[in-house]
Amino acid sequence: MMTITIEDIHAARSRIDDVAIRTPLIPSPYLSKRAGAVFLLKLEMTQPIGAFKLRGAANAVLSLDRSTMGVTCCSTGNHGRGVAYAAAQRGIRAVVCMSQLVPDTKVKGIEDLGGETRIVGRSQDDALQECLRLVEEEGLIEISPFDDPLVIAGQGTIGLELLDQCDDLDMVLIPLSGGGLAGGVAFALKQINPAIRVIGVSMERGAAMYESVRAGRPIEVEEFASLADSLGGGIGLENRLSFPLCREYLDDIILVSEQEIYHAMQTIYYEDRLVCEGGSAVGIAALESGRLPPVKGPVATIITGRNLDMRIHADIMNGRDVVLGDMVVKGRDYSSS
Ligand SMILES: *Cc1c(COP(=O)(O)O)cnc(C)c1O
Repeated sequence: MMTITIEDIHAARSRIDDVAIRTPLIPSPYLSKRAGAVFLLKLEMTQPIGAFKLRGAANAVLSLDRSTMGVTCCSTGNHGRGVAYAAAQRGIRAVVCMSQLVPDTKVKGIEDLGGETRIVGRSQDDALQECLRLVEEEGLIEISPFDDPLVIAGQGTIGLELLDQCDDLDMVLIPLSGGGLAGGVAFALKQINPAIRVIGVSMERGAAMYESVRAGRPIEVEEFASLADSLGGGIGLENRLSFPLCREYLDDIILVSEQEIYHAMQTIYYEDRLVCEGGSAVGIAALESGRLPPVKGPVATIITGRNLDMRIHADIMNGRDVVLGDMVVKGRDYSSS
């Protein structure tokens, strides 16, 4: 059955307890002033693989039958790292398939964790084809980055932790791509307190879940290079679970521009002294854009990962232009205005 329950999320929490850490939830004094309410950062970038994806991957890998030889996945990077790390913990093989759009640091990261990598084509869909071939021909088990009940339950454990750490949350801002994270966390939060508002945030170009929710069914969108490369990729035309969860449990989806993501990465670095990926900074970009609805109490955003090319990070911190495929994100020195 393709559903999840709150019990699945509690079960995931105990299953992954030895692999994923309980991450800190810290207030940002600067962003709290901007928001007019306590603004909290859930530091998932402090997971052992540098991103939250370890939660879902570990829950899926640790649920596998004892006889499983190995696993495979297609990933823009962080899911691949999570699967490689969790598989290494269990002593089984992991083969990670990805497209040429994925930055080199992410490929190397997976290999350092003991995973095998396969680079194929220019899109997630090409990578998925290779993945399906490995399932057919080599008998590996595929772990979807977002459309799998165990993965979604694993990501949903962040929702349980958030409520343990702050019991009067008014709003949670969640970086949104395939929707495993937003679907799982929104589901967990709303099961416990339906009054919490949960908002997904994506980049303007290539926001597959946003377009799909608007269309009322999963649709394909063109992929673009983005500072938020972790948020790229489609949701799958055959999407079974993350799409219905996002459609039902997200109160809204906000889109932010590359320029806003650039500035948000500077903000979190200069104000909170944190290094994070563009895809992690979109909740902050949403706040700074002025597009959030009025807040009445504590707001939290999930700082999802920190696995980015540090040369690009240095360029942004120094206000230099960043070239992304056919587009240039104009550099700007940081100012808090
Ligand atoms: C995967 C990822 C996301 C989005 O998660 P989905 O479940 O695909 O919506 C956000 N931020 C980072 C850093 C990620 O790796």
